[in-house]
Amino acid sequence: MLTSTLSTTFAATMAPLINFALAQPQLYFTVQDHLKKALREGILSLSHRSNQFEKIFRETTENLKVLLSLPDDYHIYFMSSSLETMERVLQNLVRVKSTHLVSGAYSKRFYEMAGELNKPAHRIDVDIDKGLPENIVIPPDSDLIAISHTEPDNGVSIPVDYINKIKDQHPKALIAIDAASSLPYPSFDYFKIDSVFFSVQKCFGLPAGLGVWAVNEKCMDKASAMYQEGIPIGSYHNLLNLHHYAAKNQAPETPNVVGIYLLGKVVQDMLQRGLLAIRRETDYKAAILYQALNTHPLMKPLVKQRELQAKTIVVADCGDNASFIKQTLLSKGIQVSNGYGQNEQRHLRFANFTAHSKEQFELLVDTLNEIR
Ligand SMILES: *Cc1c(COP(=O)(O)O)cnc(C)c1O
Repeated sequence: MLTSTLSTTFAATMAPLINFALAQPQLYFTVQDHLKKALREGILSLSHRSNQFEKIFRETTENLKVLLSLPDDYHIYFMSSSLETMERVLQNLVRVKSTHLVSGAYSKRFYEMAGELNKPAHRIDVDIDKGLPENIVIPPDSDLIAISHTEPDNGVSIPVDYINKIKDQHPKALIAIDAASSLPYPSFDYFKIDSVFFSVQKCFGLPAGLGVWAVNEKCMDKASAMYQEGIPIGSYHNLLNLHHYAAKNQAPETPNVVGIYLLGKVVQDMLQRGLLAIRRETDYKAAILYQALNTHPLMKPLVKQRELQAKTIVVADCGDNASFIKQTLLSKGIQVSNGYGQNEQRHLRFANFTAHSKEQFELLVDTLNEIR
């Protein structure tokens, strides 16, 4: 009763919610203007075989390569989502067997998908309380190691140093990183990984419906060799076909033209702001939120091992207080996510994406600190 009164009162003020929820991303602050311009310029009804589209494709991929400092031998392709990309990674880059570091729900899904595609897979679990396994041993016939950089269900992140160490220990296997919930924040050493993918609706603050897949030349060679051996690598979105079209700055299918346009524009804005500034701000926002959780009487960080604490998604263990805290935040115009799966009623999850300002985070933390 109290809850509904509070939210009605808030709704009556008509102020927009400050949105820290994971599944309803807050848009990057320039998106509205770019979208208006896209409408004016006819981008929403552009042919995907036109010169104008090819220019957009080229600008977006070039801007992304600069923003992420991708080495020269990396290629960028557009997918419909990160889940699609997982399937494409397995089809194009796994000849025999994949090994999956399972640190949360999406890396578990990636592992299961291998089975659904009839590819044997090996899993290594990351224990949220015990921390990272000292040495990981992979089956000798494993030709790919899949790692999720940041998991949105539990807020676990695998440190970049650890990923680099895995490559040093297993130089022959391809390393594929799911960075759906973290790029552009992490500074990966792209010489120590072979493939990375993300979705634009998380840290890029864009409308959903576009995934990005970056692969190096070793991945291209692998897909090519598998194709020659007659191993199925998928159809329209296999790496060879993607490469064929990308060489002309095109996509095989009729793609999400406006999504690719908006991504190019927002990446340009991020380049102007500077990735270093974005990373520092992300660190600051994460630090004040973890600090608030560490000292709060009603909740604590779910991930206790500091080296595993994700920066772009923070999960709080609230025991029986989750619903009370969530409703109190809502009454003050702040939206957060419930816990995931069986923890729906006990955890709260906070997105710390590029679109969330320092001031919004300071307000979130002050508000949390007032809840006792
Ligand atoms: C969100 C997310 C996905 C799924 O992204 P879609 O765009 O919904 O396919 C996959 N992996 C991770 C780590 C994510 O955070």
